[in-house]
Amino acid sequence: MTILVTGGAGYIGSHTCVELLNTGYDVVVVDNLCNSKEEVLHRVKKITGKELKFYKVDLVNKAELTEVFRKEKIDAVIHFAGLKAVGESVSKPLEYYYNNITGTLILCEVMMEFGVYNIVFSSSATVYGNPATVPIREDFPLSATNPYGRTKLMLEEIFRDLYQSDRRWNIVMLRYFNPIGAHKTGLIGEDPKGIPNNIAPYITQVAVGKLDILGVFGDDYDTPDGSGVRDYIHVVDLSIGHVKAIEHIQHNPGIVVYNLGTGKGYSVFDLIKAFSKACRKDIPYVIKPRRVGDIAACYAEPSLARKELHWSAQRDLDEMCEDAWRWQSNYPNGYQNDKEIL
Ligand code: NAD
Ligand code: UDP
Repeated sequence: MTILVTGGAGYIGSHTCVELLNTGYDVVVVDNLCNSKEEVLHRVKKITGKELKFYKVDLVNKAELTEVFRKEKIDAVIHFAGLKAVGESVSKPLEYYYNNITGTLILCEVMMEFGVYNIVFSSSATVYGNPATVPIREDFPLSATNPYGRTKLMLEEIFRDLYQSDRRWNIVMLRYFNPIGAHKTGLIGEDPKGIPNNIAPYITQVAVGKLDILGVFGDDYDTPDGSGVRDYIHVVDLSIGHVKAIEHIQHNPGIVVYNLGTGKGYSVFDLIKAFSKACRKDIPYVIKPRRVGDIAACYAEPSLARKELHWSAQRDLDEMCEDAWRWQSNYPNGYQNDKEIL
């Protein structure tokens, strides 16, 4: 069975390629490399000892995408490709709507032309906006506070409309909480461009000496220690969730949505402590004002995925930090090779 992975050279996509290959699927990656490097895919091959096919194609280029479907016999698609920086989406909304929405519309059109109706879509916990309570269940009200979040919300609606129009579609929408960590080999991991927006790569870059000090965005939230609480999930657990979704889609027609989180909330200070333990260094930090748009606490009720996908996160916060640190210390400059290991 052949899985097309859009955005397969990205952070979550590359880890998912590893899990798909290890499970025995054939993998075809489509990525325009706007936020990733081809080197990632060589490392995926190194980790798995298996081949995958790569097409440097932009999803908005219908002719090139059609060519990929013509050449490969695709059975199902995992759709990661998209722009994901919240702040950038506020300053470049048209770019975000064009890339994320148009890219997905074209992907779906081409899938229909080739009779491929199985898709797993990367949604996000951001679609819950500011939830009234935690843990968050899939049936909670949805809202968005920025263009990035709105692309996810709109795409979920578009997928619902698509399913209503044609019941041949099988759609799994996965709402990720906060993926962090890296593959155990330390060969692949998160490699953000420029100064990281997210906390985990910021901490690892402070630990490795690339950044001076972490800013903690607010210590006066209504949470146990005053800092923001999130559901950090190991990227490998998240990737395995996609393999489970692909198994599910083959036997369960319809449209479904699942939270992929651990169900546990950790604060910024918990994360700093766990990371300090993993890298055996103090992480210098300074308290800063709250970041605009941030919420106090966000963590999943993950039992629906456990029940229906037979999936649950297995790796704890310490393991997430140890694995993130192995990747960052092996490759302080990410895929700009510092040294080759293995
Ligand atoms: P990433 O940026 O590392 O990966 C996305 C990949 O898509 C990149 O390799 C990029 O080059 C590619 N891409 C973007 N636009 C494209 C296009 N038009 N055509 C072809 N390729 C294109 O991001 P990630 O962290 O791996 O996230 C993957 C998906 O999961 C995204 O849709 C993101 O919105 C979603 N998500 C991520 C998080 C997170 O915290 N990382 C949380 C929730 C949801
Ligand atoms: N955060 C922080 N400093 C940073 C980046 C993030 O204190 O440099 C906090 C942020 O306020 C939130 C948590 O870390 O409480 C997770 O933020 P991130 O941007 O990683 O993910 P989000 O949940 O916002 O998508």
